[in-house]
Amino acid sequence: MQSVKTVQDVRSQSKEWKKQGLSVGLVPTMGYLHAGHASLIRRARAENDRVVVSIFCNPMQFGPAEDLASYPRDLAHDSALCQELGADLIFHPEPSAMYDAAFCSFVDMNILPATLCGKSRPVHFRGVCTVVAKLLNIVQPDNAYFGQKDAQQLAIIRRMVADLNIDVTIHGCPIVREHDGLAMSSRNTYLSGEERQAALVLSQAVQLGQALFAQGETRAANLLEPMRKHIESQPLARIDYLQAVDGLTMQPISSVCAPALVAMAVYIGKTRLLDNFIIE
Ligand code: AMP
Repeated sequence: MQSVKTVQDVRSQSKEWKKQGLSVGLVPTMGYLHAGHASLIRRARAENDRVVVSIFCNPMQFGPAEDLASYPRDLAHDSALCQELGADLIFHPEPSAMYDAAFCSFVDMNILPATLCGKSRPVHFRGVCTVVAKLLNIVQPDNAYFGQKDAQQLAIIRRMVADLNIDVTIHGCPIVREHDGLAMSSRNTYLSGEERQAALVLSQAVQLGQALFAQGETRAANLLEPMRKHIESQPLARIDYLQAVDGLTMQPISSVCAPALVAMAVYIGKTRLLDNFIIE
C-alpha cells in the first residue's frame, strides 16, 4: 500500500492505473477510522481494481466554534486498517497541499444545505462540496463511496455530481452500528461513560420511528412526536433537529413516502451526534 501526501503523487498514480484499464474506487474520510469507514473500504475493494482512501480533516467544513482542533487523529492506526482491508493508496495531504495561500474558489449549493445540519452548520456543506469536488478531480475515480450516516451529505454530493457533470458513480452505504445500536462515529470518542449510555436514545428513537412507519404511520408529525418525547426523556440529550424530509431535496415533508429521510442531530453533553433512517 502506498501512502502519499501530494496531489501530484496521487494524481499520477491514479492516471497510471486508468491507463492500464483498471477501475478506481475512492473512499473520502476525515480519518480516525472505525468499522463504518471499514465497510465503505470493503465495498470499494469488492467493486474496483484499485482503492484510494483519502484521510483529510478538512478545515473548510468546520465552523469557527467547532471541533477542528480537537477532532481525533491517528494516522498509524488508520494506515494499518487500510492495509488490512486491502486499500492500494492512502492520500493524506496537509491542509496547505489542498488549499494554497491564494485559494479562493468554492463549490456552493442552494436548497439542499438549507435544512437539517446545514441550518446549524452554515459553512459546513460549502466545505464538504469543495473538498469532495477537489478529491474527485484529483483522483478521477470511477466510483466513490459515502455513508448513509451522513445522509444529507450523501444527497448533496449526488446532487453536486449531477449538477456539475462529474464523471463518477456515487454509492451510498448503510449505517454501521455498535452492538447496542449507537451509530459509529469518530466523535463517539468524546463521550464519557455516562454520555455513551445516554447516546443510545438516538438509535432507540430511530427504531421507534421505523416501527411506527412499519405499522402504517405516514404522517410525519405522528412519527416524530414519539421520537422527540423519547429523546427528551434523556436529561443529557438536547435535540438540534429532528425532521422528516424529502430524500432528494432535503425539504420538510408532512407525509412520509419514498424517497424520504427521517434525520436527527442530538447533543449528548457537548457532543453532537447524528442518526437517521431512510424510506426507499
Ligand atoms: P468521516 O470520516 O466522518 O467524514 O466519514 C467518512 C465517510 O464514512 C462518510 O461518507 C461517512 O458517512 C462514512 N461513515 C461514517 N460513519 C459511518 C457509519 N457508522 N456507517 C457507515 N458509514 C459511515
